[in-house]
Amino acid sequence: MSCASGWSNRCVVGQGGSLKPALLLDRDGVINEEVEYLHDPKNLVMLPGVGQTIAAMNRLGVPVVVVTNQAGIGRGMYDVDAYRRVCEAIATVLSPDQARIDGWYFCPHRPDEGCDCRKPRPGMLLSAARDLALDLNASVLVGDKASDLEAAREVGCRTVLVHTGHGREEAQRLIAQGRADLADHVAASLGAALPWLQDVLMPAARRQGFAP
Ligand SMILES: [Mg+2]
Ligand SMILES: [Zn+2]
Repeated sequence: MSCASGWSNRCVVGQGGSLKPALLLDRDGVINEEVEYLHDPKNLVMLPGVGQTIAAMNRLGVPVVVVTNQAGIGRGMYDVDAYRRVCEAIATVLSPDQARIDGWYFCPHRPDEGCDCRKPRPGMLLSAARDLALDLNASVLVGDKASDLEAAREVGCRTVLVHTGHGREEAQRLIAQGRADLADHVAASLGAALPWLQDVLMPAARRQGFAP
């Protein structure tokens, strides 16, 4: 299995050589409710406000990219096709909101495999940046775990910790460890993070000439 396999929508190539700010999203616990080893679309429950936030980024011309650890594949609990069916179900649920995900990246490896793509390592973010011509220093990653935010920090992305999924416990843990500053912003959900995301990403998108 290869690392950081992207699939579909590999279409955003840099315009005039300029790099785009992006919104990078963890999947489970950020887009959809955390279900352990989610691999059946019938167990997919979307979190509130996700469609509106993604659609707002689409309108700004900010690519929206999913970066998700899927060790259940490496553990033999489900296969890549099952993973993709869940992603397709997410895309289908988003479409009535005019919301579109521009790139999907997943790590299929178990932690003991020592790959470069499993967060907190930044391999998926680097692959997305290369494939989609992203400016990681102008980008934001939203996650529900410290490992999401650590991967982002590794490559200079700003970070949002949401309280959905594992986020509430992770926030408490980071505070107890004196590491609350790993999150640049904390929000109840991806939907609730929209105003902050717009404040950060709109000027960056405008500077690059992408935002309306
Ligand atoms: Mg998660
Ligand atoms: Zn991996």
